[in-house]
Formats: sequence, C-alpha cells, structure tokens
Amino acid sequence: MKYFLKFAVHTYFILIFTSCSTFSRISGIYTDIETFRPYITEYINLKQIYLGTDKAYYAIDIIYGTPEFPTVGQCYRTSDPDLSRQVIINAQFWANSNDNERLELLLHELGHCDLNFSHQEERVGIMNAKLKNKELTDTVIKDFFLEGI
Ligand SMILES: [Zn+2]
Repeated sequence: MKYFLKFAVHTYFILIFTSCSTFSRISGIYTDIETFRPYITEYINLKQIYLGTDKAYYAIDIIYGTPEFPTVGQCYRTSDPDLSRQVIINAQFWANSNDNERLELLLHELGHCDLNFSHQEERVGIMNAKLKNKELTDTVIKDFFLEGI
C-alpha cells in the first residue's frame, strides 16, 4: 500500500511537469510518451490494412495514469465529438510487460476509444475484458478490426 501511494504521487508529478510540453501527433492520436509511439504506429498501420485509413476517427490522447487495480488501461470518452478522448495506461504494467502485451493493451484501448468497441467474450480476442497475453495472429487482428472481437 505504501509503495502504491508513492507510485501514485510520482505519476501525478510527472503528469504535471509534462502537461505543458507539445504533444506529438500521430494520425490524430497524441502522446508525449516516447515508448507508446511504436505501438501507435503499429495500430495505425494495421488500421490502414483492415479499414483503409491511417487516421484515428477521434482526437485521442494517450497518457500514463493509475487506473484502479486490477485495471491496466482505460478509455475515457464522451459522445461529444469535439472533446478529445483519453487512453490511460498503467505505468507499472507497461514497464513490466513484453512487446505482445503492450500491443494487445493499446489495441484494446484504441478499440474502445477509436473504434467504439465494447467488451466481447464470445471467443478469445482483443476485446475480451481480460488481457491474456494472447498470440496476435492475422486472424485475431482481423477479427478485431472487422468484427470488434
Ligand atoms: Zn476494455
């Protein structure tokens, strides 16, 4: 618990100190955090392949935060198209995750924030509520973009 509090305070200060720097724009998705960029680029490349566009449908900011345990990522969205949406990634989870888990998490959250997908449990897929470090095969990726699974 003590560790968690320290961590939360630390994150808070990082957010304050970075809040005035410029966001880098990647196809409508904005982030200050370097380590997210290759995964955002991967998302955009895949979106181009499956949906024929390399632009996000909404303005989306991706930041670090501390969603309540055991949530490792969260999408905040409203129905107002003029308000930018926000993906919040748990920094501790991100630091301890491999490439596959990171991409799975970003795809999942952008599934909510960019593609308006809900959770889906009919079969194993990126939009399952629980991340499973599942193998991101062509079929899994295709089912995600085309079926919202
Ligand atoms: Zn979700």
